[in-house]
Amino acid sequence: MSGVRAPQGPPAHVVREADWLRAVELVRDAGEVALVCHVAPDGDALGSMLGLGMALRRAGKRVTASFGDRSFAVPRLLRFLPGQDLLVEPAAYPEEPELMISFDVPTVDRLGLLAPNAGKARELIVVDHHPSNTGFGTVQLVDSSAASTSVLVEELMARLGLDVDHDIATCLYTGLVTDTGSFRHSSTTPAVHEMAARLVATGLRTDEIARELWDRSPFAYLKVLAAALDRATLDRHAAGGLGLVWTFVTRADRAAHCLPYDECEGIIDVIRRTDEPDVAVVLKEDDEGAWQVSTRSKGQVDVGRACTALGGGGHVRAAGFTSHDSPEETMASFRSLIGPPASPST
Ligand code: 5GP
Ligand code: MN
Repeated sequence: MSGVRAPQGPPAHVVREADWLRAVELVRDAGEVALVCHVAPDGDALGSMLGLGMALRRAGKRVTASFGDRSFAVPRLLRFLPGQDLLVEPAAYPEEPELMISFDVPTVDRLGLLAPNAGKARELIVVDHHPSNTGFGTVQLVDSSAASTSVLVEELMARLGLDVDHDIATCLYTGLVTDTGSFRHSSTTPAVHEMAARLVATGLRTDEIARELWDRSPFAYLKVLAAALDRATLDRHAAGGLGLVWTFVTRADRAAHCLPYDECEGIIDVIRRTDEPDVAVVLKEDDEGAWQVSTRSKGQVDVGRACTALGGGGHVRAAGFTSHDSPEETMASFRSLIGPPASPST
């Protein structure tokens, strides 16, 4: 059972004042800034990057922004975000940036195709909130107690004297609301609500943002969700009796209903509502045939540690990894990492 229970893992990261000062100096002095967020960007990664990107462009900097996916496309869910005219394909990204800033990236491999560019950057400011952050880059704005990376972007903007307008607020709010699960997770402190209040005061339509993020899907989604729910399995003995619910979505499921891969992101939120287990997992087969594994826990099991051991990463309660094995083999590996099964008599 040792190693199963949270909280565990690396020590907390806090931002040193010297790093804030150095980051402000580097950004102020830069004429050109290259921004990057993690591959397969989520609301916090893309929102944080585009929010700061728009502010820096308004301050007169030349800004490029990207993420290092081979099939470079903004997920449908996030196409409402302003500032996407800053985006360039990885092939058009500066090869040796003077100043590069990464958002929501805990490990170099999450930079994907842009990892070599980061390696050649003269300065690399890392803005992140993952406990699993490895400390790469020349300046670390990494705070594992921050509810989202966008919290750190708001502070950086304040230190730079940059105003948050309506478009920037839309981006930063998207990071905040997605990473706190609509202000439901334990990371939702009074300071989180205070930041939300500042952003909403710029005139945000929080109802429209919520609808874009969570309340719309093509009809085909219902059919694919039904297939996933139909094969959901509850394993009460997994993780020393804390329990596991899991399912998977194949390429064939999606092809049968013409559903793009990125429309399946919400399935984990249905699976994880199951009362009995602590842990929930959804394996999604992508267009290349690899399995993208989303894991969640209610807090007793540290899924971030298990996913890190399988080559991925994340937080105690939300993490992921990529697998090239079958769903059954993948789950056997994952199960062994979250602890031995409880004996049937328990
Ligand atoms: P999701 O299940 O929503 O794709 O991911 C949940 C969280 O797990 C993300 O916020 C991210 O921190 C982390 N995560 C997901 N997939 C990976 C991965 O392949 N590698 C790493 N390092 N983290 C991941
Ligand atoms: Mn984040």
